[in-house]
Amino acid sequence: MRDECLACALAAGRQPLPGGLIFRTESWLVEHCVGPLGLGTLIVKPERHVTAVADLLPAEASELGPLLQQASWVASQLVAAEQVCNCLWSHAGGVPGHLHYVVQPVTRQQMAAYECHGPRLQLAMFGAGLNPDAGEVATVADQARRLFARSQ
Ligand SMILES: [Zn+2]
Repeated sequence: MRDECLACALAAGRQPLPGGLIFRTESWLVEHCVGPLGLGTLIVKPERHVTAVADLLPAEASELGPLLQQASWVASQLVAAEQVCNCLWSHAGGVPGHLHYVVQPVTRQQMAAYECHGPRLQLAMFGAGLNPDAGEVATVADQARRLFARSQ
């Protein structure tokens, strides 16, 4: 755990996490995204500070596939999504960062509003910088917790 790492700080409660922890496995945490990628976008990250998929321990790697599938199902239930995108861009500032998969339920309305999709949509959403309302995030996080409990 490193103090300068936002992912570690959010996990340890040193930074406020809107919606709180949603779900956890032995090695992985699920949170609502703190960036402007829309309501219902989940972050799946290892609790341990790891910056490369290649450095995941065997136990961490074995939990990842099932968790991404489960988180994608949950995200699909939170928002009327056209597609739930999964991506990993842990390279903030040009330096390898704490791994975090973005599980983003993308709606037709978002694609129409930004007139793009896929990675371009994420860039456009970051450019617009419209963070979801903290109260709405808390509500969605509660829904996500219930959905994870149902999906066990
Ligand atoms: Zn970290």
